[in-house]
Amino acid sequence: MKASVVDGYPQGNKMKILIEGTDPSQVNALRRAIMADVPKMAISKVMFTLGVNQDNNRGEIFESVNALPDEVIAHRLAMIPIPTQPDEGMSFPDECANCVDLTEDDKGCPMCQVLYTLNVQGPSSDSDEPYRVVRAGDLTNVSDPVFDISEEMKSIPITYLAQGQFLEFIAFATLGRGRDHAKWSAASAVTFQPQNEAELKKPKKASVLFDLDLKTQDGRSIDAKLFTNKKCTDIATVLDLEKALHQVGEGTGRDADFDDAIVLNKVDGSFVFSYETDGSLAPEAVFNLAIEELKSRFNDLGEDLERAFA
Ligand SMILES: [Zn+2]
Repeated sequence: MKASVVDGYPQGNKMKILIEGTDPSQVNALRRAIMADVPKMAISKVMFTLGVNQDNNRGEIFESVNALPDEVIAHRLAMIPIPTQPDEGMSFPDECANCVDLTEDDKGCPMCQVLYTLNVQGPSSDSDEPYRVVRAGDLTNVSDPVFDISEEMKSIPITYLAQGQFLEFIAFATLGRGRDHAKWSAASAVTFQPQNEAELKKPKKASVLFDLDLKTQDGRSIDAKLFTNKKCTDIATVLDLEKALHQVGEGTGRDADFDDAIVLNKVDGSFVFSYETDGSLAPEAVFNLAIEELKSRFNDLGEDLERAFA
């Protein structure tokens, strides 16, 4: 198996990787490892402050009621991408050396959890603002600064606070795996498809497609110039062509005129693998961690088999 990043990727958190010399079952194992096995951080426990607060300066009363139930806020917090640093040596709560012998309630230490606090009040009663939006950026990280919520995620809204309302809590982020809960899933839209090469078989009839004036993702015209010696092998371009071909395919009324002027030929044993991370981990890191997970699993399996046959 040989893997290489497709030209032009990663785009933000999106990734495309060409995997060669393999078969669908191996690529699917990788896909499942990315979805279910790659560990990442997510908020998994929240302790809300309930009650009534009096503003010290003004004597105004704020109550811990707000538009969303606590469970929904906890769920929204779980979905916020928490920067995951595979090299920081965070432990899973169940495997943490400091906490392994403690009871469930006492578990949790700097080795296995990251703490965030939030304390926000709605607008005061003489304010013109009818409400205030609480955002991910309002979370204060009280652990290592490497776990600060990243700039691009700070605008994620959590809830609204009206006048006289406050929201206060401590949130604990822990390392987990997607197989236990989707909040720990490192990437979404994990898919793969066979690698194709496009062949221009009938240049004249292909004008049915070329005349539609379609563009590739990077803004080039879809026309004969994409082909060299009637072949197009560039992966991103072939994917754009594949999409464009739907405009002249069955059911479009153009398929008879087009007459399969461009065909896609499968490259044996090669797949284009795509996914998008939620921003907790870099796209490259997700792929490498998935390979590590698979490696360790098959090592374990190897050892088990040796024992089974001994
Ligand atoms: Zn611990």
